[in-house]
Amino acid sequence: MNFQAPEGTKDITPDQVVLWNRLEKAARETFSRFGYEEVRTPIFEYTSLFYKSSGETTDIVEKEMFTFGDPEDKKGTYSLRPELTPGTIRALIEQGLFAKKNFWKVWYLGPAFRKERPQKGRYRQFTQIGVEAVGSPDPLVDAETMVLFAEILKAVGVTAWELRVNSIGCGDCRPKYRDALKEAIRPLLPTLDENCKRRFERNVFRILDCKVDADKTQNLPRAIDYTCDKCKAHLAVVETALQAAAVPYRIDPRIVRGLDYYTRTVYEFSSSALGAQNALAGGGRYDTLVGSMGGPEVGSVGFAAGVERILLAMGGEATAPPPDFYAVAAGDVARTEVFKTVVALRRAGLSGDMDFEARSVKAQMRSANKTGARYALFIGPEEAQKGAVKLKDMKDGAEQTVSLDEAVRKLQGGTS
Ligand SMILES: [Zn+2]
Ligand SMILES: [Zn+2]
Repeated sequence: MNFQAPEGTKDITPDQVVLWNRLEKAARETFSRFGYEEVRTPIFEYTSLFYKSSGETTDIVEKEMFTFGDPEDKKGTYSLRPELTPGTIRALIEQGLFAKKNFWKVWYLGPAFRKERPQKGRYRQFTQIGVEAVGSPDPLVDAETMVLFAEILKAVGVTAWELRVNSIGCGDCRPKYRDALKEAIRPLLPTLDENCKRRFERNVFRILDCKVDADKTQNLPRAIDYTCDKCKAHLAVVETALQAAAVPYRIDPRIVRGLDYYTRTVYEFSSSALGAQNALAGGGRYDTLVGSMGGPEVGSVGFAAGVERILLAMGGEATAPPPDFYAVAAGDVARTEVFKTVVALRRAGLSGDMDFEARSVKAQMRSANKTGARYALFIGPEEAQKGAVKLKDMKDGAEQTVSLDEAVRKLQGGTS
C-alpha cells in the first residue's frame, strides 16, 4: 500500500528545512529588535471564536474551515485555525495579560488550515508568521509593522516586493462609504456572480475582493474619498512615517482585505517574483476587534504573512554548514572506542558522525566525503589505546596524530 499526504499539504524534507530555518531565524531576530514577544496558541479553537472575529460572511469562515467536534463538549464545535489572529487575541484576553501592561507587541509562527482548492502557492495546511500590536491607536505603530515586515524580507534577500496601502475608514465614515458603494453597485447587481449577489446585502465591501467581477467593479467609489478627517489624518501620519523610514509604498484604493475586523489602515505586500498568488503578507488596523471579543477597547494593528510564499520568493537553495568531523573506525578497533571519542567531541561542541554499519575503512571514507566534513578522524587500536586520533584534513589531505584534547582544540579553532 502506498500512502500519500493529503492534497494541499506538504512535507518539508531535511534539504528544504535549511531555507525554512534561515527565514525563521531572520524573523525571530527582527521581531526581537522591534520589541515583539512570541506567543503560541492551540491549532484549533472553538468555531464560535472565528465567527466572532474573522467574520461570518468572510469566505474563510463560510467555506474554508475544517470543523469537527466532541459531542461531550457543550461549548460547541472546534475548527482548525484558518488564521492566527483570533487565537492570539483570545489568549491575550483570557490570560489576563492586559492587567500587566496595556500595550502588547506579540508575534507568532505556526500552521493554519483552509479547505480550499489546492493550487500553486496555496495549501490546505500552510504556515503563517505575523504580529499583533495590541493597545495603541498610534498610526506610527501601523507604519512600524510595515517597516518590520520589510526588514524581514531584506534579511532573507527578497528584494522584488511592493507595498500597497489603503484606508477603509472607521465606524464614523465607513457607513457613508457603504451607502455610496451600494448605490453604485445596485445597477450592476444582475451582472455579478452569485457570491457577490449574496455579499451585496451582507457585506458589500467584499465585492471589491471578487476576482471574477473585477473588471465590472473598476470604477466604483473609493473608500479613501469618504474617510473622515480623523481617518485622513491617521493615514497621513502612516505615510509620513513610511517615508521617514524610507520604505517604498503606494496608495491603492482597491485594497480592502478579506476579513471583517479591519478599520482605517489596510495593506498588502506582494512580490513580482511569484505568479498569480503573489501576496506575501496582508495586514491592517483593527480598532474594534479586541473590545468586541471581551477585551479592553484598544486600538490594534497587525499583519500575517505566508511563510511558503516568502520561501518561494526567496527562491534558491540553502545548504546546511558541513560537520566538523567524520570518525572512521580503522583496523579491528572496538567500535565502542570510536563511539566514546565521537561523544566526547560532540560534548566539546563539535559536530560530526560515525559509521553505524560496521563497514570497511574505504566505505567509511566515502561517507566522510559525502558529509563534507572538514576532518576525517581515524581511530585504530593503537590510537584508542593512547587516547589519540589521526586527523586528516579533507581539503589538503594532510595527516597528523594528536591527543584527543589537541584534536578538540584544532577542530574548534577551525570553526572560528
Ligand atoms: Zn473615519
Ligand atoms: Zn463576484
